[in-house]
Amino acid sequence: MKNRAGRIVVAIIALILFGIYTYKQEQIHTHSADIASWGEATGLHPEGFDEGISVLQDDGEPVILPAAEESAEPAPEATPEPTPEPVSFDMSSWEMVLVNGDHSIGQYEPEQLAYLNQTADETDIQTAYNPNRCPVDARIAEPLLAMATACKEAGLPVFLSSGYRSYSEQAQNFQRICENNGITDGKDSSGHYITMPAGCSEHQTGLCCDITDIYRAVKNDEIFQTETFQWLKEHCAEYGFVLRFPTGKEDITGVMNEGWHFRYVGEEAARYMTENDLTLEEMWEQFAV
Ligand SMILES: [Zn+2]
Repeated sequence: MKNRAGRIVVAIIALILFGIYTYKQEQIHTHSADIASWGEATGLHPEGFDEGISVLQDDGEPVILPAAEESAEPAPEATPEPTPEPVSFDMSSWEMVLVNGDHSIGQYEPEQLAYLNQTADETDIQTAYNPNRCPVDARIAEPLLAMATACKEAGLPVFLSSGYRSYSEQAQNFQRICENNGITDGKDSSGHYITMPAGCSEHQTGLCCDITDIYRAVKNDEIFQTETFQWLKEHCAEYGFVLRFPTGKEDITGVMNEGWHFRYVGEEAARYMTENDLTLEEMWEQFAV
């Protein structure tokens, strides 16, 4: 009897102990779960936490949206946005040839010259040598004449004072201007060319022309004040020309500002250069491959 009662007591004690153990285990698990949810709510991310998108609810409480599952289905192809054509210029084309103090064209001669009436009073384009007319590369004769006649039609005088110059003519020019200015390198005190050594003048390409209102023995800053200059500057790009040596770009072109020297580059390039305030040197920097 006594033995039996003893076994019952032991069994009851064992049950009580088991009950206490089970309760404790429950407590530990619940506590862990709390830590996990507390971590999420405060933005603490346990290692390996899949970063979701945090958004604010109306009451300002951040809510973590689960990161998007990688879809097995490929996303439908989006219609591509029309992209603007990339700007490019063929710098190896004849219109873009670069001639300056660093780029000599040696003894180059244009294939075909054309001769224009200097005041655009006669609008024929001659191709036989004519010492009384302004010679240019035949390829720019038409746009140059169109620009000169449009300037005249606007009521302004125009004078084509210098177009193509040969290598030897430029050599003589260089020597004369250097002697007149007491210099030997063709440069002013700022280091900008006022006359180019033979081979380095754009005039040798025949793709440019010095244009003034009237014949001027000396070309200087007065030309900037003329209405003819103002008109040419405003309209030259329409005919494919640019003011080649603008004020403020002397350190880039290496040449003092010249309000008379207009260079043919073609309409597209002339428009681009004018809109973006670029010299031919800068075009080469940007587009030469
Ligand atoms: Zn010139």
